[in-house]
Amino acid sequence: MQETAEQSLRGSCPARTACDAQQVRAGRVPMAQLPRLAAWLPSDQPEAALSYELRFYRDEARALLVAVRVEGVAQLPCARCLVPMTVPLRGESVVQFVHSEAQAEQVADAYEPVMLDADGQVSLLELVEEEAIMALPPVVMHESRCAPAWQESAEPAAEAAPAPRENPFAVLAGLRGDGKVKS
Ligand SMILES: [Zn+2]
Repeated sequence: MQETAEQSLRGSCPARTACDAQQVRAGRVPMAQLPRLAAWLPSDQPEAALSYELRFYRDEARALLVAVRVEGVAQLPCARCLVPMTVPLRGESVVQFVHSEAQAEQVADAYEPVMLDADGQVSLLELVEEEAIMALPPVVMHESRCAPAWQESAEPAAEAAPAPRENPFAVLAGLRGDGKVKS
């Protein structure tokens, strides 16, 4: 069954119930529905979607956990020429739900602490969005040399075309023809 974002990511989810039931939520969500992620991406790609998987569980210490995975393809501008590049977006981490700042400080390094609200609820959309934002590469750049977008204004002299040189054969032809062409 094809899950839609409406069914599986909307609203908040009771974390304890989801972990005890070992719920799995998977599907695809349009990147346009993730406003903080969309701010990094060109707005002319509303059809771009992100695949996600959320696996809720508890560990031996009974901690409330969810393994978050996201995968997709984003268009990001090259840092040098600003032309958009197709960049794979892949993120995977384990979130531990906590109820307080003090509890967040106790979370193991392997886990990302996420605060539940007063009712023990968490926004699934925000979990997915946070993972996608962490997966964004800090810098993307073409491997081959591309023209820096800023060079045109910074170094106008270097960009100027060389003066056209006279074609020596044309000159020669001109000399040869000179005075010999009957008209
Ligand atoms: Zn480039």
